[in-house]
Amino acid sequence: MLKADLNDTIAAIATPVGESGIGIVRISGGGALKIADQIFTPKDNKKPSGFKTYTTHYGWIVENSKLRTLNSKLNIIDEVILTVMRAPKSYTKEDIVEINCHGGIVAMRRVLDLVLESGARLAEPGEFTKRAFLNGRIDLAQAEAVLDIIRAKTDSALEISTEQLRGALSRELNKIGKTILDTLSLLEANIDFPEEEIGEVDLKAVRQKLLKINQRLKDILDTSRRGRILREGIKVVICGKPNVGKSSLLNALLKQERSIVTPIAGTTRDTIEEIIDIKGVPIRIVDTAGIIEPKDLVEKKAVQRSKKYMDRADLVILLFDGSRKLSREDEILISKLKKKQVLVAINKIDLKQKIQRERLNKGFARAIDISAKKSRNINLLEEAIADLAYGGKIKASESILVSNQRHIQAVKEAEKLIAGSLNSLDNKLSLEFVAEDLKEALGYIDEILGRRFGEDLLDKIFGDFCIGK
Ligand code: GDP
Repeated sequence: MLKADLNDTIAAIATPVGESGIGIVRISGGGALKIADQIFTPKDNKKPSGFKTYTTHYGWIVENSKLRTLNSKLNIIDEVILTVMRAPKSYTKEDIVEINCHGGIVAMRRVLDLVLESGARLAEPGEFTKRAFLNGRIDLAQAEAVLDIIRAKTDSALEISTEQLRGALSRELNKIGKTILDTLSLLEANIDFPEEEIGEVDLKAVRQKLLKINQRLKDILDTSRRGRILREGIKVVICGKPNVGKSSLLNALLKQERSIVTPIAGTTRDTIEEIIDIKGVPIRIVDTAGIIEPKDLVEKKAVQRSKKYMDRADLVILLFDGSRKLSREDEILISKLKKKQVLVAINKIDLKQKIQRERLNKGFARAIDISAKKSRNINLLEEAIADLAYGGKIKASESILVSNQRHIQAVKEAEKLIAGSLNSLDNKLSLEFVAEDLKEALGYIDEILGRRFGEDLLDKIFGDFCIGK
């Protein structure tokens, strides 16, 4: 990414390129209104630079005046609605103009080209949000939340990201940072003026503060498992010998749930992952149908292959056919899954049952009776999946959930340092050691919020965004 230059004006198509009802070209920077003046002809002939902030205007995008004289008539590209949002109350804290065009590829491209010819530069991925950060409207954790919102797969994931954008995590981290600073100033008075009276440090108070900071950091870390599940989902593989009803179960799950996210290609070419929202948890079901295949299940290669999928799964649904006795293949599967988190389901309960339940009860805590074909007890199975994945339904009230690996890592480091400082204090080491640890811990907090950053960190974060965001 280019070095952040906040002086120029950037532009990009902010909506997916393709055929759509409308498409938006977004312009941000000091020159946004001037550019709009050159290309926009409103019905009432007023100029965008005279428009009030947060107003929308109907008109046409017209090719610039040079061309106009050549053609001697107006060269209209599109009929649009133009919105003006003036600095500093805008997404980037700069002047922003958004042009709602008709969403065709050609129309959008021509409008964008015209904007670029008129003095804007094509925005880098995430550059609008990067400007929001660099101009101080949001901190780095909030900027990252924008990406999480775009990528949220379930309502709960969206809720958590929105809370983060509103500053829930940032506020908590700021509080922690402030307590660290308070503690530091207590300590440093003593370090700087050891002989003077103010140097009398209340070590008990310092210890209390350190304990409090440590607890808060731990509390944040405690949320990270759930946070990551919400963000990334858990990978579930439905496993079972041929004909037990794996495909039927996948279909039953897909049919039952309202939000089916477009299937995404799995890590290998022969699998497909479907994301299903089960009680707010994004469940990535790896569709292995046709992979763990009939006759070759006992063959070495097939077993290896199926094992690979099971190994990668966070949770395996082990499916049996209740209308048949357990076979050698079932036993092989059971033995392969010893170390995995397994949920057992007995399918085809609509048929006469022959399966040896005692055998399963011995090996597994619980087996759920279902009928995939008749969609019976699929709800129960879903509850069990959510329970195992998450320990129950996700509480929307849990507003601080740390899910971003960068944040988790930094909080972990900070927590280690605070624990270290407590240790130094208890072992009566020099207070300078305690202070050093605290400063370093504060550095990690600042890093999350983006008070301390390198250009490459910004590149990494904003490079993941789409152009136009
Ligand atoms: P897979 O090979 O494990 O993917 O199994 P399928 O989903 O293809 O199912 C194998 C056969 O079992 C199909 O004929 C299904 O219609 C049937 N089947 C699946 N679930 C049930 C069920 O709950 N009850 C009954 N009676 N048949 C089922």
